Amino acid sequence: MSAARPVAPPAGAPAPAELLEIRTIVRRVIASRVRDSHMVDDLVQETLAKVLTAWGRIDPDTAIPYAIATARNVVASTWRHLDTTERNLHRVVDLLPADRPEDAVLDREEGDAVATALTHLPDRDRALLVAHDVEGRELAELARESSTSPGALAAQLKRTRARLRVEYLLAMDHREPPTPQCRPVLLALSGGDRRRQRELDVSGHLLACPYCADLGRPLSQRASDGTSTRIAVGADADVVLARQTGRDVAISLGFSATDGTVIATAISEVTRNIVKFAGTGEVRIGRLQEPARCGLLVVARDAGPGISDVDLALRDGHSTYGGLGLGLPGCRRLMDEFVVESESGRGTTVTMRKWRSTGGPGGR
Ligand SMILES: [Zn+2]
Repeated sequence: MSAARPVAPPAGAPAPAELLEIRTIVRRVIASRVRDSHMVDDLVQETLAKVLTAWGRIDPDTAIPYAIATARNVVASTWRHLDTTERNLHRVVDLLPADRPEDAVLDREEGDAVATALTHLPDRDRALLVAHDVEGRELAELARESSTSPGALAAQLKRTRARLRVEYLLAMDHREPPTPQCRPVLLALSGGDRRRQRELDVSGHLLACPYCADLGRPLSQRASDGTSTRIAVGADADVVLARQTGRDVAISLGFSATDGTVIATAISEVTRNIVKFAGTGEVRIGRLQEPARCGLLVVARDAGPGISDVDLALRDGHSTYGGLGLGLPGCRRLMDEFVVESESGRGTTVTMRKWRSTGGPGGR
C-alpha cells in the first residue's frame, strides 16, 4: 500500500503523445542545423525546457509553431554565445548556414576565423579536435587507435581548445598583437594555467597592455585550475556549456556515455535553476580521486532569493517548473550524493557527487 502514487500532471501540461510529437519535431529542426549529436541532445533538452515552462501561456493550437520558433532561437543564441566566449567555439564549424542574409555574412566571417585559427594548430592537435568535436567520435575509441589513454587525449584536447580559442580571437580581431609577450599571455589565460600565468606575470601584462586586456576578458570567463572548472552562469547558453563540460569531465574520468548523459542532465537542471531564479551564479565541476573510486563533483552556487523550504523542494512530485521539469528530486535520484543548502534571501548552493568504482588501488 506504500507504493509511490503517480504524480498527476498539472493542468495545462501536454499529454505524453503530444510531448513526443513536439520532441520529434524539435529534434528535426535542431538536427538540420547542428551536426554534433551530443549538442543536438543538449539543444533539444533546452528547447523542451523552454516550451514546457511556457506551456500554460501558449495556445495549444500554436504549440508546434511555438516549439519550432523556440528551437531556432535556442540554436541561434547558442551559436552567438559559443562564437565569442567559449572553449566550444570551434563547434561553430558544426552549425550549418543560417537562414537570414545578415546571418550568412556573419557566418562567413566566423567560418573564416575558425578556418584561420585551425591552420595555426599543430597537425596532430587539429586531427584530434576534428575527430572528436566535429565528427563526434568517442575519446575511448580514438585512444585505442593511437595506443594512448582517454585521459591523455582529454588533456591534449583541452590544450588544443585553449589554443584554438586564442587563435580564433586573434583572427577575428584583424590586429597584430602589439608585443611578442601577448600570444603566450593569452594562451596562459585561455588554458587557465595558473603557474604559467605567474611565470609570465599575466596580471602585470594585462594592466599595461590594452590589447590583451580586451581580448583576455572572454578568455578568463571560464577559469580552470586543473582539477575543477568554474563556469560563470548568467544566460541560457551557459546551461549548454555547463552540460557539455560535465559530460566531457565524466567521460575523461571513465564514466560510460549513459552516465555522462545522466550527469549532464542533473547539471542542466541545477544550472537552469540559477538562470531562472537567481539570474547569475556559478557552477564548478571537479574531479574526485579516492583509492578505490573516482568521481565527479558539481557545486552550483547563486546569491539569489534562496529556497524557503528545502525539504518541500526535495519532496517527490515537487518541481520548480509547476510539475514539468525534472526538479530537484529528479536530480537527487540521478546522482549518488545530493545536498542543498539554502537560506531565504541569501542564495542557494547545491552540491552533487557521482562515483565510479575503479576496483581499488592498482585498478584503472
Ligand atoms: Zn599584450
